[in-house]
Amino acid sequence: MDEVLAAAGIVEWSRLGERPLCDACLGRLFGKLGHGHTNEARGIAVRGVSGARSGSCWLCEGLTSRYESLARLVARKLELWDYDTFLIGSKVDPELQAREESLWAELSLAGPEPIKSEVNREVGKRVCDLVHKEPSLTSPDILAIVDPSFDHVDLSVNPLFLRGRYRKLVRGIPQTRWPCNRCRGKGCAKCGGTGKMYPTSVEEILAAEVMRESGGTGHALHGMGREDVDARMLGSGRPFVLEIKEPRRRHLDLGTARDRVNTSGQVEVDAFVPATRQDVLAVKSDRADKTYRVLVRFASPVDEAKLKKEMSILEAQPIAQRTPTRVVHRRADTTRHRSVKRAEVLSTDGTVAELRVTAEAGSYIKELVHGDQGRTKPSLADQLGVACEVLELDVVDIHDEG
Ligand SMILES: [Zn+2]
Ligand SMILES: [Zn+2]
Repeated sequence: MDEVLAAAGIVEWSRLGERPLCDACLGRLFGKLGHGHTNEARGIAVRGVSGARSGSCWLCEGLTSRYESLARLVARKLELWDYDTFLIGSKVDPELQAREESLWAELSLAGPEPIKSEVNREVGKRVCDLVHKEPSLTSPDILAIVDPSFDHVDLSVNPLFLRGRYRKLVRGIPQTRWPCNRCRGKGCAKCGGTGKMYPTSVEEILAAEVMRESGGTGHALHGMGREDVDARMLGSGRPFVLEIKEPRRRHLDLGTARDRVNTSGQVEVDAFVPATRQDVLAVKSDRADKTYRVLVRFASPVDEAKLKKEMSILEAQPIAQRTPTRVVHRRADTTRHRSVKRAEVLSTDGTVAELRVTAEAGSYIKELVHGDQGRTKPSLADQLGVACEVLELDVVDIHDEG
């Protein structure tokens, strides 16, 4: 406390005049000096040297004596929710903050603490004692914003994140909910009132049980890339993070949720594992190579030796891909440069061949095969001099770190 007293000793207290201050507001003028004390204790210590009057506080108008009741208000609101960690924020009257800053200037103070940070800390300590949960500065489950002027508390409930790998066993399902392109989700004759282009999606199948169990208000699926609607996703599956918005409950039976997904016959998940917002960034930023199985039909018969030779030529050079015709209506028309790591022929009868291709993230595989009217160069069709039709496409492996 010596540091605090020394600082209080050199303040020209006559400038404070007749304005009374409570202990906490007086101590907070030195709030960044001396560790391990409350501002109230600092205020009691410097009261004698300051000559500050006590009484109805000119600065906070009684706010510092209301932390306990504000904490009870927060605890009551939190009762309705399942959470492990919380954080307190506050809205402090701007006039109070202006009074505080003008006083710092008048008294030429070196280490005052703003009242907002005192409110957050002091209410937080008391909430901690009431609810027996831990505060978290970095990733609280719930952020409680206290407004002392109106005795009001707003909760901002952070999402629940679950990660895993999914397999899509059937064709014709988009990865995420796809709003109807005519009504944009409102429901119309084209979509039969569903508001959707497809009756379901990988996202909806993965989320259904978790939504029921958590009581969330919405969901989003973050995948490590996405397969086409007509492509299956096989092998060890695609990494994803499922985000459940405003969950009432966070402690779920994840094994049962997984089993329910796996009875769908359409989508399988290896497990739902608790995750964080950082995991979303990780799956979104991954540039993993992918391996595909492609079933292709040739417009005229192709000799097996020639097919193998042209496939190996595709491996050896960079591929330039203009945005495919099928997606250029919704994406910028640019050119991507990607490389094919491996291109093998699994089997062929001269007219239909099964190929296995490993390529960099972001490669357009259908276009690599059929050429997209010259927009992808080189392509298998160009190399062979024969038109190619992709009959089936599956993602069979994603070469991520996991
Ligand atoms: Zn005060
Ligand atoms: Zn519609």
